[in-house]
Amino acid sequence: MRTREEQIAALASEFVTETGMGDGFSLMNARAHILEAERRAEQRVRAEIARDSERLDWLESGCCDVRFRPEPIADTGDADVYCDIVQHHMSNPKERVIGSAYTIRSAIDAAREVAKFDTNYTDNIICPHCGYEDYDSWECGDGEDAFETTCDRCGEEIGVVRHVSVSYSSKKLEADND
Ligand SMILES: [Zn+2]
Repeated sequence: MRTREEQIAALASEFVTETGMGDGFSLMNARAHILEAERRAEQRVRAEIARDSERLDWLESGCCDVRFRPEPIADTGDADVYCDIVQHHMSNPKERVIGSAYTIRSAIDAAREVAKFDTNYTDNIICPHCGYEDYDSWECGDGEDAFETTCDRCGEEIGVVRHVSVSYSSKKLEADND
């Protein structure tokens, strides 16, 4: 990587050839440009670091697990590494994946988005955009297990998975009379 002084000199000579500025004036301008660029780069880095500490704080406050798993790539026999954010609950299912992505940062961001409203394993569909609870959820989706619907309040599209649990009851049959 070039040093700051080298970058300034290179930019200054570009100014001289492209604008016909004097040498001294070009150097002064070039220096101001480079310093401004450095300042912005530093701001960006600082903002990224701040976002990362927010992500860590969020994981800690929710006691979420970060789990990596292989995600098979269709028909190739290969797999990508996928990151899941797992939330723990008292009731079943006790472990719930609330965000998944190829990178840990995107997975946490997805989980934070979901966690704004409790939208997992709820009695009715909760809009992940505005938190609206649809009390007519049973009418949605034509009996499909997975479907898309639109929020009645904010109009945003929602992907829904309907969890159905199956249970059985049995009894003795009437004895035959013979
Ligand atoms: Zn909504």
